Amino acid sequence: MAAIEMKNIVKKYGDGFPAVNDVSIDVEDGEFLILVGPSGCGKSTLLRMIVGLEDITDGDMMIGGKKVNDLAPRDRNLSMVFQNYALYPHLTVYENIAFPLRLANKPDSEVDEKVREASKTLELDEHLERKPGNLSGGQRQRVAMGRAIVRDAEAFLFDEPLSNLDAKLRGQMRTEISRLQKRLGITTVYVTHDQTEAMTLGDRVAVLKRGVLQQHATPRELYENPANLFVAGFIGSPPMNFLPAKVDGNKVELPFGTLTIPEDKAAKAQGKGLLIAGIRPDHFEDASVMDADKVSDEATFNATVDVVEWLGNEAYAYIPFEAPPEVREQLTQLEKDLDGESMRTQLVISLDGASRIKEGDDATIWVDARKIHLFDPSTGENLT
Ligand code: ATP
Repeated sequence: MAAIEMKNIVKKYGDGFPAVNDVSIDVEDGEFLILVGPSGCGKSTLLRMIVGLEDITDGDMMIGGKKVNDLAPRDRNLSMVFQNYALYPHLTVYENIAFPLRLANKPDSEVDEKVREASKTLELDEHLERKPGNLSGGQRQRVAMGRAIVRDAEAFLFDEPLSNLDAKLRGQMRTEISRLQKRLGITTVYVTHDQTEAMTLGDRVAVLKRGVLQQHATPRELYENPANLFVAGFIGSPPMNFLPAKVDGNKVELPFGTLTIPEDKAAKAQGKGLLIAGIRPDHFEDASVMDADKVSDEATFNATVDVVEWLGNEAYAYIPFEAPPEVREQLTQLEKDLDGESMRTQLVISLDGASRIKEGDDATIWVDARKIHLFDPSTGENLT
């Protein structure tokens, strides 16, 4: 096993816009790193440069403290698990797992020992004589991982390994990959565009946008302290609400009312003119289902609820608002950056399942003002 260090990595295809632009990320020995971002952000290119399938235009790629820029893929001793698993249909599970060992001319006894050990870890020992065509998606995935394990590779690299599976199996396989990675303690880099995979699997997550690293942090840090508007909008479902905001003293004026925010937050946003406030759906609540002593007038507002979606344990309420022209352009650009995943003209609020708010109600909504983020609309930077 080995640490991976990416130092100021640049990749240009032809003379176009860099697909990867000055990215530096350290992956510690045994760490699980996620590379995440919307389509085209450069995550696969970065992974392919680690493995050696793509030349590095500039910067240094270090594996186990050794520069590997010019090493051929086979000399890097990394195991890559592809989206389509790349299994050999005519070979049995046993021979698929054994494949890298056969290629390395290992003696039969060693092949047998390693294949049996890996298949036990992966609970494939009852299927060793079957062919991939007779396996479920999850089992095929495990065979692909078995082939990676037997090689005693320095690191595992995954390129969207679960994207061909249905939602249920994807959930199961996610847990399985996590358990296996922890048990083996092997350095892992995993590419996905799925933020649930990013948040649940990674020790740390690197968020990319158009080739540029936006933030490299633990999942909790990304959720609680996003560095900028892009990360804030990308992480979290339903996405963070973005609203025009003006700060005066420790009051913040939002389209639906004025709230009092903690002084340290307010201090960082003084005299900056119109800002963009970010509030997660979870940080609102129906004031009528809360303890009265938690609710103060300075943290509530009244609004007419447009639509309510009830999901059992919680409900989403939608409240339309109008963004002023000064921030409209910024929010439209953000939507584009996020692949149009979010709607920026309505507030989404996550309500406790006990809430009885219904469509058309004029409701009193509480906001957890300590959790408000304030962003600079021109740079996108999180000021708070
Ligand atoms: P996806 O999730 O869609 O696979 P990605 O984040 O993995 O996207 P990359 O595949 O790394 O993104 O692509 C990054 C950028 O580099 C894109 O603009 C893409 O069009 C470009 N690109 C990728 N491969 C090549 C290539 N072989 N030649 C030219 N441009 C390429």
